Amino acid sequence: MKRHGLNPRPSGRGARQLLRDAADRLTLVDTGVGGADSPAASWAPVPGGLVGELAAVGVAPAEISTVILTHLHSDHSSGAVAGGAPVFENARHVVQRAELDAARGPTAEWVLPALEGHLHVVEGDAVVAPDVRVHLTPGHTPGHQIVRVGEVAMTGDLVLHPAQLDDPAIPYVYDDDPETAARTRAEVLAALRAEQAVLATAHFSDPFTRL
Ligand SMILES: [Zn+2]
Repeated sequence: MKRHGLNPRPSGRGARQLLRDAADRLTLVDTGVGGADSPAASWAPVPGGLVGELAAVGVAPAEISTVILTHLHSDHSSGAVAGGAPVFENARHVVQRAELDAARGPTAEWVLPALEGHLHVVEGDAVVAPDVRVHLTPGHTPGHQIVRVGEVAMTGDLVLHPAQLDDPAIPYVYDDDPETAARTRAEVLAALRAEQAVLATAHFSDPFTRL
């Protein structure tokens, strides 16, 4: 079957967002495209700039206590690994069980062995750090998850383009299961809209969107 739908250009260095809680613990949501040896090098401009961007705000990789991977696509997860070892050596890496069960291909083979012993596997909805929750949102990938902190929802690849806010049925060419992705997108966006949440998106040109 020919895939159809949105195919926006990849956004440079990939997705990543940093949270600092009241006790100064740091949580990173997604890790960007990674270094020159990343599997994302086949399509994205590498190396990514995550470690340098963290340094610019005074954060060393070892200070990150939690890494949440919304899913295992290369522009979200490859930056967790460099030279076969975890970049964030002191962090738990939160991944959904369904994402691990479905994981295969170059990115999974690159990321998962290096993170052995550093994974925090969750199923469905879970509190993963103080005031930080994840929600299973399958479709883009089987174990895709979004992250909630207060009114903010970090949406990973739940939405790729602002047009999908008006019409969640618009497919994205890289949704693994387009029907499930569209249904999940419609349900989650309706719930977020009802609470006037703020979206922190991975691929929009504006990083924040209030619904
Ligand atoms: Zn993706």
